[in-house]
Amino acid sequence: MIDSYDRNINYLRISVTDLCNLRCKYCMPEKGIKKACHDEILRFEEIEEIAKKFVSLGINKIRLTGGEPLVRAGIITLIKKLSKLQGIDEIAMTTNGTLLKRYAKALKEAGLTRVNISLDTLNHEKYRTITKGGILKDVLEGIREAKKVNLTPIKLNVVLIRDFNEDEIVNFINLTKDEEIDVRFIELMPIGQVKDWSLNRYVSNENVLKRVPELIQIKSKDMASPAKYYKLPDGKGNIGLINPISCKFCGNCNRIRLTADGKLKACLHSNTEIDIKGLIRAGQDTTEVICNIVKHKPKEHGLEDEEYIEREMIAIGG
Ligand code: SAM
Ligand code: SF4
Repeated sequence: MIDSYDRNINYLRISVTDLCNLRCKYCMPEKGIKKACHDEILRFEEIEEIAKKFVSLGINKIRLTGGEPLVRAGIITLIKKLSKLQGIDEIAMTTNGTLLKRYAKALKEAGLTRVNISLDTLNHEKYRTITKGGILKDVLEGIREAKKVNLTPIKLNVVLIRDFNEDEIVNFINLTKDEEIDVRFIELMPIGQVKDWSLNRYVSNENVLKRVPELIQIKSKDMASPAKYYKLPDGKGNIGLINPISCKFCGNCNRIRLTADGKLKACLHSNTEIDIKGLIRAGQDTTEVICNIVKHKPKEHGLEDEEYIEREMIAIGG
């Protein structure tokens, strides 16, 4: 599907749940989020039906996200079904990694191609603080297991946070010295009820380049990737900088999002949502709605206009 700005829209991000086993300070509001009732959340057959329609229209890459996708019961069965869709080249997942030790093998066997794992610190105490109770050892064991079963290349997502993990930039970058792992620094986005928390702790990704000036810019293999890629001289892995705030990447954006409660979003930073669950449940064809949302995908996001994004990140999926 080609949008009005000549971008090829071939990537669908599906959030399978609003629930999570962690409560990261920049993602989940202090008081939690209103728990959706069972019927509000898309059933797996409905996700499959929507994905099938998208694939028939030209989507060839799916990413499962959440909340935490691995807390939704039956996720392995969903992946098995999605991976059999004709035309799919890649099914990836973004996960906090805490449950990967248990599920990595089954995920690989079900047809998952690879994982992005979110990890903002390599310090046990700091991890417990930022995730409000998470255990770093679980994630490290999850990463090991994901490597073992070849859910690769593994990408680590590190949200850069003022006075929290700037001092760990070098440690994260050093992970790429001897391993084929991508470490991607993401700028903190002011979204939902934790907007002010995030605004106060935003740090530009320029800091990464200032701290490690020897990084060499390289061409990304994926032209639609939001990351600008770098490498240490002789490093095996890559460093990605994802700069939604300091430098927009909308020109290459190739994605549409489906939320767990059945809304389509053409842009992460827009409050416009289209209800596809209603159409599916009414037995109506969704082709026109999908083509329309692609056609009206915004040229770029307007964070500099201070548009307040109401939906919490945990209910968007990143
Ligand atoms: N639970 C999974 C995880 O943490 O990877 C998937 C969902 S999470 C919402 C997806 C990604 O969004 C994670 O990499 C997380 O760090 C990132 N994220 C959440 N809130 C963010 C924010 N305010 N700014 C930037 N990235 C954010
Ligand atoms: Fe959960 Fe991921 Fe949000 Fe952290 S970033 S609270 S792990 S959904």
